[in-house]
Amino acid sequence: MIRAMRSLVAASLAILTLLPLLTAQEEIPPFRTRAIAMARDALRTKNSMRVLKDLIAAAPKRLAGSAGARAAADFALAEMQRMGLKDAHLEEVTVEAWDMGRECKVALVTPEGEKLLAALPLGGSEPTPNGGIESGVLMVKTMAQLRALGANAKGKLVFFARAFDESQISTGQAYSDAVQQRGQGAIETAKVGGLGALVRSAGSEVDDHPHTGAMNYEQGLTRLPACALSAVAAEALEAALVKWPDLKVRWSQDCAHKGPAPAWNVVGDIKGSSKPAEIVLLAGHIDAWPSGDGAHDDGAGCAHALEAARLILGSGAAPARTVRIVLFANEENGLAGGRGYAEKHADEVAQHVAAFESDSGGFSPRGVSVGGGKETVAAMADLDLHLGALDLGAVRTGGGGADISPLARLGVPVMSLHVAGERYFDLHHTAKDVLANVHPRELALGAAVTAITGLWLADAEVPLPRTRSAERQ
Ligand SMILES: [Zn+2]
Repeated sequence: MIRAMRSLVAASLAILTLLPLLTAQEEIPPFRTRAIAMARDALRTKNSMRVLKDLIAAAPKRLAGSAGARAAADFALAEMQRMGLKDAHLEEVTVEAWDMGRECKVALVTPEGEKLLAALPLGGSEPTPNGGIESGVLMVKTMAQLRALGANAKGKLVFFARAFDESQISTGQAYSDAVQQRGQGAIETAKVGGLGALVRSAGSEVDDHPHTGAMNYEQGLTRLPACALSAVAAEALEAALVKWPDLKVRWSQDCAHKGPAPAWNVVGDIKGSSKPAEIVLLAGHIDAWPSGDGAHDDGAGCAHALEAARLILGSGAAPARTVRIVLFANEENGLAGGRGYAEKHADEVAQHVAAFESDSGGFSPRGVSVGGGKETVAAMADLDLHLGALDLGAVRTGGGGADISPLARLGVPVMSLHVAGERYFDLHHTAKDVLANVHPRELALGAAVTAITGLWLADAEVPLPRTRSAERQ
């Protein structure tokens, strides 16, 4: 009897506890229903993975200015046309073409013999002089150290040995700190009369895959060659220098500048139903370093943007504003795509209500990072609720993107897909950035967040605050 009463009470309690859930279910806002449908479509079809696979098959190597860049642009244009985007077209820009070459040979020469070190030319580097370089090495970990030891660098290679700081919570921050020596190494070496820069890879994994990326020269200084050593190679060189401070390194690389060449932004629209002149831009960049296949950087961002368009179209929504997909031509070595877009579309920049770029890899989404401050986050509180309810992250500050930075300077609110960054710098700019290292479900969820954000922005009643950088202009 008591047992029967207990189960009766338990049953009524269960019904009571179910009631709020049922009420909550009835109150699911229409936008969230659509968001769930788009996310499920992305997961069911895994079409983003198909797009990424086909992009890589069409153009595994697609640095701006190379033959692969055209193949990639043609592929993306065909995708846009196939899914029925309006005014799908290519916009030509001019880039400085650079070829990574076939050889980057770095040999450690010690009393024990010679040992080859895994290396890649840095993006935009000059080749080594005919016959290569053989010289002693000065190791430094900071630019201040190089300035202090400057006299010792004359006639030597400078080895920048700073490692990626694994203790940082944000891998993006650790990367920004580590990458300074890649950007400035050749310049600082030229200032102290060195022969070239050997730079420890800016990636997070200690392995034998060198990590390339853009470097800079300064007018009026000798343009010295620079290369990235894998973390393993850098540690071997560091250990050898402790043992044999007078060791030599023999180095030759045949990368080359090829002069001005065309590259293409790929652009297509979902026309707005009631405010077609107002534009929400969803972007990735189609170029990639040829060290890998650019699967995460930024094939994933291209797949996110293209798949977002398909998801929005397939959802039956008629977004008020135009959703524009742009795959930028030249993020890695020059930014001609981002600059070219802002120039060509100068007359409609004021009509861009937001620009979103996915360029942090195809990992599990953690939400959206906005370039504006707290007021932009507050203006997106409703989107934050939807993303949170779907366990797809939150809206937070700290976003943007290189390609959309020219738009940001003109006042366009910018933002980026925020993803789990733990593995990005293990792969980024290395031979490991290939399809096998992209997880279909993670990629699909990133596309879902891109679509949800794009549709939300296209229908938002109140426009986002224009950015502070515009207020200063
Ligand atoms: Zn990128």
